[in-house]
This record gives sequence, C-alpha cells and structure tokens, in this order.
Amino acid sequence: MVNNQNYLAVEEFSRIPWLVHGFGLAGFDLESLKLDFRLADFQPVEMKQEHSTRVLVVDRPPDRKVAGDALITPKAGLLLVVKTADCLPIFLVDTEHQLVAAVHGGWRGTAGRIAETAFETMRKSFSTRPDQTLAALGPAIEARCYEVGQEVYDFFLRQGFPPDRIFLPGDRAGQFFLDLKAANFWLLSEVLGLQAENIFSLELCTFCRPDLLSHRRQPDDQARLINFIGIKD
Ligand SMILES: [Zn+2]
Repeated sequence: MVNNQNYLAVEEFSRIPWLVHGFGLAGFDLESLKLDFRLADFQPVEMKQEHSTRVLVVDRPPDRKVAGDALITPKAGLLLVVKTADCLPIFLVDTEHQLVAAVHGGWRGTAGRIAETAFETMRKSFSTRPDQTLAALGPAIEARCYEVGQEVYDFFLRQGFPPDRIFLPGDRAGQFFLDLKAANFWLLSEVLGLQAENIFSLELCTFCRPDLLSHRRQPDDQARLINFIGIKD
C-alpha cells in the first residue's frame, strides 16, 4: 500500500506506467483532484450513484451527470470517479487492451452482481480476458463492523452467493456480519475467473479508521471518499 497523505494506492497498480488511481482519504474531495499535479490534466467523470447495477461505458465526459454505479473507459485522459462511505470501491484493469473500470459496490450493487455486469460489459465490448485483468478492492466497512438483517442475507442467497463465504453469524438471531470484500472476491475469482493473486485488497475499515469516512459512523456527514482511476495520455 502506498499513502501519499491524500489517497491510498495499490502497489501493483502503481507499477503500471499508463495507469493512475487512488482511494481518497477523508478531506480529499473533487476539488483536490484538480489541485493534484498528477491528475490536473484529467477530466473527472462522476455518476449519479444510486445503488443500481447500471454500467456506463464512456469515451468523453457526459454533458450532465448520468445515473449509474460503474464506469468503464478505454479512453486516456478521463478520471473515473466512485464516491463511497462504507461501500466498496472496486477497480478493474484490463492490462491487455488498456481499459479501466470503477465500480460502486455497496451491498445492493454487490448482491446485484454489479462487478460481474461490469466485467461482462468489458468482455463483450472490448474482448477483455479474466487472466489479463487485475482488480483492486479499496477501503470499505469490514465484516466485524457491518451487521445486516435477514432480508440482506436472503437477497445474497437468491443471487447465488455462498453464505458461508460472505457472512458470519451476528450477535442476535436474524443478524449477520456481511463481508463485502469477500462477496466481490468470490464473484471476481470463482465466477468470472480472475486469478486470486491478481485481486488486491486494502484491508482497511472505513468504520474503524478516522481518516476514512463511514456512513454508519457518521450518518449525517454528506462527505464521501473520492476513489479514482484513469489512463494516462
Ligand atoms: Zn471496522
């Protein structure tokens, strides 16, 4: 893990010469993107995130903010932005075709298999292969801090997730601890065929760490962590 005070990075991603990426810390906002000299030439692309499974392929910044929860681009100069506070930001990198994706993985999107929809879109549109794809899972609320109810458990089950891989029993009956990272790791590795050693995870809990933002910890705080990925010109 690399920490430049503003955002965190995955070392394996930092070694790719045509790539920029970061998982923002608290206080790093959209304005900060423009002030960072490494990012100043990029055009940020934001979505109106709504916990959907809608995936958008972009080759220029849209005129207005479009609703969706995953962005894909083959185009250099765009900075795909996903905003989170407990939800899991997921980056996908097709190293063969120079293609990047940024995915908003809250529990609804994760259960709705948005990471799979994003990857399948890459595969159909750009012939992305799982063995040439890297993934990074950013900071999110970790299982021990993320108790959910029966309806969430049942939803994941209906969507085909293996409960023993993603849930721990909760403190009370009908409560469970949900591991968002494990759910997406399972989807990426077991369902989509990415190699486990090509999936990198920042083991940091948004709820536990004061330098990150957590909706559960501070429900009234509208600020979000800014996570970004892009292809250099
Ligand atoms: Zn925690």
